[in-house]
Amino acid sequence: MARVIVIGGGWAGCAAALTARKAGASVVLLERTDMLLGCGLAGGIMRNNGRFTAAEELIAMGGGELISITDEAAQHKNVSFPGHEHATLYSSMHVEPKVRGLLTEKGVQLNFCHRVVDVVTCGRRVESVVTADDVFFDADVFVETTGSAGPMGNCSRYGNGCGMCVLRCPAFGPRVSIAHKAGIKDDVGLRNNGSKGSFSGSCELNKDSLHPALLSELESLGSVILPVPGELVRPEMAGIKACRQYSLPAYIENLILLDTGGYAKMMSPFYPLEMLRRFPGLENATYAHSCGHANSVRFLSRAPRDNSLKVCGSANLFCAGEKSGFFVGHTEAMVTGSLAGLNAVKCANGHPLIEIPRDLVAGDLIAFEEEALRMPGGLKQRYTFSGGIYFERMCDHGLYTTATELIARRVRTVGMEGLYLKSNKAGTRTVKLE
Ligand SMILES: Cc1cc2nc3c(=O)[nH]c(=O)nc-3n(C[C@H](O)[C@H](O)[C@H](O)COP(=O)(O)OP(=O)(O)OC[C@H]3O[C@@H](n4cnc5c(N)ncnc54)[C@H](O)[C@@H]3O)c2cc1C
Repeated sequence: MARVIVIGGGWAGCAAALTARKAGASVVLLERTDMLLGCGLAGGIMRNNGRFTAAEELIAMGGGELISITDEAAQHKNVSFPGHEHATLYSSMHVEPKVRGLLTEKGVQLNFCHRVVDVVTCGRRVESVVTADDVFFDADVFVETTGSAGPMGNCSRYGNGCGMCVLRCPAFGPRVSIAHKAGIKDDVGLRNNGSKGSFSGSCELNKDSLHPALLSELESLGSVILPVPGELVRPEMAGIKACRQYSLPAYIENLILLDTGGYAKMMSPFYPLEMLRRFPGLENATYAHSCGHANSVRFLSRAPRDNSLKVCGSANLFCAGEKSGFFVGHTEAMVTGSLAGLNAVKCANGHPLIEIPRDLVAGDLIAFEEEALRMPGGLKQRYTFSGGIYFERMCDHGLYTTATELIARRVRTVGMEGLYLKSNKAGTRTVKLE
C-alpha cells in the first residue's frame, strides 16, 4: 500500500488526505496546531462567483465531501454583497469537528501538535520528514500543504509558546517550507509596493459585541452594508489587500459585515478599534482574532510546481493550496488539494500523473496561475475563482456558469467524472494541456 504523508491540515491538506486515502493509500496528516482548517478557521464564504462553478465541478469529479460539509453547515445561502453573488456563509465552528470526523472515519491518521521542521532527502527524493520533537515520519510520497502564512519564530524559539498567544496567533511558530528544506527555492509573493507577502482582506468581530439591532439585521439577512462616514474613508487601503476581489470601491465606501455563524466577518483590513467604534451599531465592537492594527500576512512561500502539482526538482513531493500558487480561498485549496492527493498516490504506484484539462476551471486556474506568475507583475497578483483577474478570465472564456447540469456535462466530456471516486488504476490517462 502506498504511504502518503500530508504536511499541514488546512483545507488543502484535508482534501489531499481524503483523495489519497480514497485512491488506496495509507495517509498520515501532520498538523502543527490542535485543529484542522488553518486559515479556514477565519473564513466562511463559499460558492461566491466562480467558486460556485468550481465547487460543482469538484462534486462531479467525486471530490465533493468537503463542499457538502460546508453546504450543510451554511447558515445563509444565496447571499449577495458588493462584487459577489450567490455566496454560502458557513460557520467554521461547526465545520472543523465535522471535517475531523470525516477524515477519521475514512482512516486518515491525524497527528496534531506535530510541527514539521526538517526533511531527510536522498537525491531528488524526500525520504522522511522530521518534527520539532525529533520524530521521523517515512513515506513514499509527501504532500506539502503548509499554506503561505507564518510569523516570526519567537514563540517557539523561547519555549512552548509565548505570552502573546493571548492574541490568539492562529499559526503559532515560524514558517517552515518543506520544499525549501528539500533544496527547492520557493517563489515569494509581492505587494504593490514591491515588499514581500501580502495582507488578508478580512477579519472577524465578536457577534455579541455588536448592537442588538445590528446583530439581528445581520443574522436575518446574512450581510449588512454600513456606509463609511466621510472622514473615515481611506482610498489608500484598496491596493493593500491580498484578496483583490475586495479591492472594489464599494469596500472603501462601506463597511461590509457577513454572518459566518460564530463571528461577524468584516471585509476590510486594518481598522483601528477607535475608528471602528465610530460606526453606529459598532460602539462596543471587539475583534475576535488579533486587533484592528493586525491582519494575516501571507503569500510568502509558493513552491515551483507543474500542473500535476508535483514540485519541480523533486521526485516525490507534491504541493497544494496556497503553497501551490498565489491562490486565495477554501475552494481553491480543496480543488488543488484533491488533485495533489490523487497524484501523490499515482506517483507512489508509478502511474502517470493527471493534469486537469483547461476546459474545466480547476485545470485552467492551476495552469493560468503558473503562466501568469511568470509574466511581469505576476508575483503581485492573487488568483481566485471569486474575483480579480481570474474570475474576469472565467467570464471572458465562458467558464463561469451556475448551471449545474452544464458543469456536470463538461466534467463528463473531458473524462473527469468521478475521478476522485476511482481506485488507483494504472490505466487512468494523463490529460495533456491544450
Ligand atoms: C482572515 C482570513 C479570512 C479568509 N476568509 C475566506 C473566506 O471566507 N472564504 C474563502 O474561500 N477563503 C478565505 N480565506 C482564504 C482561505 O482561508 C485560504 O486561502 C485557504 O484556507 C488556504 O488553505 P491552505 O490549506 O492552502 O493553507 P492554510 O489554511 O494556511 O493551512 C496550512 C496548515 O498547515 C499547517 N502548517 C503550516 N506549517 C506546518 C508545519 N511546518 N508542520 C505542520 N503543519 C504546518 C498550519 O497550521 C495550517 O493548519 C481567508 C483567509 C484569511 C487569512
